[in-house]
Amino acid sequence: MEADIFNFKFCLGCLKHGRWICDQCGRHFIPQLPMCYSCRTVSGGYITHVKCINKREYLTSLMVCFEYNRVIKRYVKYIKFKHSTVLLNEILIIALPHILTYIRNTQHFTRNAKECLLVPVPLYWLRYLNRGFNQSRIIAEAISKETGIDINNRCLKKIRNNRPQSEVKHKNRVRNTLGAFRFNSKYISEEVKHIILVDDIVTTGATLEECTKEIKAVREDIQIHAIALFRPKPKVIRKKLLPVTNMHKINP
Ligand SMILES: [Zn+2]
Ligand SMILES: [Zn+2]
Repeated sequence: MEADIFNFKFCLGCLKHGRWICDQCGRHFIPQLPMCYSCRTVSGGYITHVKCINKREYLTSLMVCFEYNRVIKRYVKYIKFKHSTVLLNEILIIALPHILTYIRNTQHFTRNAKECLLVPVPLYWLRYLNRGFNQSRIIAEAISKETGIDINNRCLKKIRNNRPQSEVKHKNRVRNTLGAFRFNSKYISEEVKHIILVDDIVTTGATLEECTKEIKAVREDIQIHAIALFRPKPKVIRKKLLPVTNMHKINP
C-alpha cells in the first residue's frame, strides 16, 4: 500500500490507477493484417499491388501496427498535448515486436542494411520546439537501435507550417500537405536504395505520398516504404476514399 502513494500512473484509456496502459485497454491495440495501403485489401509483405500503382509518388509498401480506434485516440492525444514521451515509449514496447518481425522477414531490409535508411516524417521547426520532440523520430530511433538500420534526420525537412492533417477534412489533405516537405539528397549516400519513412498515424496517406514525391523527384532509383503505428479502419463505403488519393480502384 505504501508504494502506491508514489505510483502516480493511471491508464489513459480508462483512468484506472496503476499503469499507463491497463490490460483491458491494451486489448484495443488490434494488430493489422498485411494489406495494400491503397486498396486496403490483404497483400503479403504489406506490398502495394501492381494494379494499385498509378502515380509516381506511390509507396512500395506500408506496414501498420495497430488499428486507430477511440481508445488509441486518447493515448495519442495525451502524447501530443501533454508532450509525453513516457507514454510513447510504453506504446513502443507493444509495437516494436511487430515492427521487428516485419523488418526481419523482409528480404530487402535484411540483405543489405547499408542500402536502407530510416527517415522519420519531420515536424516544422516551430512545432518541434513547442512539443520538444518528434514522435516519429523517437519511433525511428527505437527501430534503428534494434535493427542497425541507419536513421537520417537531415535529408527530409518540413518547410511549411501547414495545419495538422487531423484538423483537415480528408478530401483537403492532399492540398494541405502540398509542397510542405523538401528533400536534400546531399545528406544521403548513393548506396541507399530503400528509404523507410516512419510516422505515428497514417490516415489517407497524403503526407507519406508528399514525402515520397519529393524524394522521387531527386532520387527516382530509391524505393519508398513506410512504417506507422496506427491507421483507422477503412471506410465501409470505399467510394468515399476515392477523391483522397485518386488511386483507390474499386475491385469487386
Ligand atoms: Zn485502461
Ligand atoms: Zn491494392
